[in-house]
Amino acid sequence: MKYVGVDIGGSHLRVGLVDRENGLQKFESFSVPESFEDGVQIIINTVKKFDEKIEGIGLGLPGDITEEGVADASNLPQWNNQPVRRLLSDELKVPVFLFHDVAAAALGEYVFGSIKLSLPCIYFIWGTGVGGCQLAKVNEKIHISSFEVGHHVIVLDGKECVCGQRGCVETYIGGRSLAAMYGDLSQKTDEDQIWKDASKYASQAVKNTLAFFSAKQIIFGGGVVTKRPFLIELVREELTKKETFIKTPPMSLSSLEDQAGILGAAAACWIEQI
Ligand SMILES: [Zn+2]
Repeated sequence: MKYVGVDIGGSHLRVGLVDRENGLQKFESFSVPESFEDGVQIIINTVKKFDEKIEGIGLGLPGDITEEGVADASNLPQWNNQPVRRLLSDELKVPVFLFHDVAAAALGEYVFGSIKLSLPCIYFIWGTGVGGCQLAKVNEKIHISSFEVGHHVIVLDGKECVCGQRGCVETYIGGRSLAAMYGDLSQKTDEDQIWKDASKYASQAVKNTLAFFSAKQIIFGGGVVTKRPFLIELVREELTKKETFIKTPPMSLSSLEDQAGILGAAAACWIEQI
């Protein structure tokens, strides 16, 4: 059986055809267009181009997931309060499931990744934006709790954040904030001081998260870190300095890189969750 997974973030819109047994079959990636209508049309056109019988579409979205779409997505404001579920199901005549983007990426890793996850596990997205979730098993069902780790305050009266607060984690390590502060990140070498500074903030965000959520494993995904796996080592070094009775579990990079979100959004169509 085949499904479509859609992963929409602050800068990318990815659409994939996913076979339940064999994983990703087809894959297209786009920049997020400025208008919501153009974004929906890209999804519709791509699904039609796949020209396959599908059982459903899963969408991974940032922000607060509602019945029809998303609200309060600070990195995707043009999608706020738009009826994306209805528009897609009316046009494509299949069930449409909406899912938090970070939870979708974690589910993708759990179902299709090559890493055998030890649950409970924490999944961090470190990309344009920053997010997290805990993946656990309760009564043999998968339970995913998403949390806005990027919007917890790490510096009192710090830098202004898109969410309206000051001093959020995302303003110190998010790809959009780093680019606004330091310019084109693709021009920065691995030795640049900005990565050492960002890793200090990222390690504190991990430490704070572990104070609230237990984890036997931590997985990192998202564009900033998947393009620079050495960041995990820098974060690990910082965490070693902060070691307390709250121990840091093993940390690694997602095995699915930028495809985790698509695979998980598709899997959300058939995996039973609580
Ligand atoms: Zn914020």
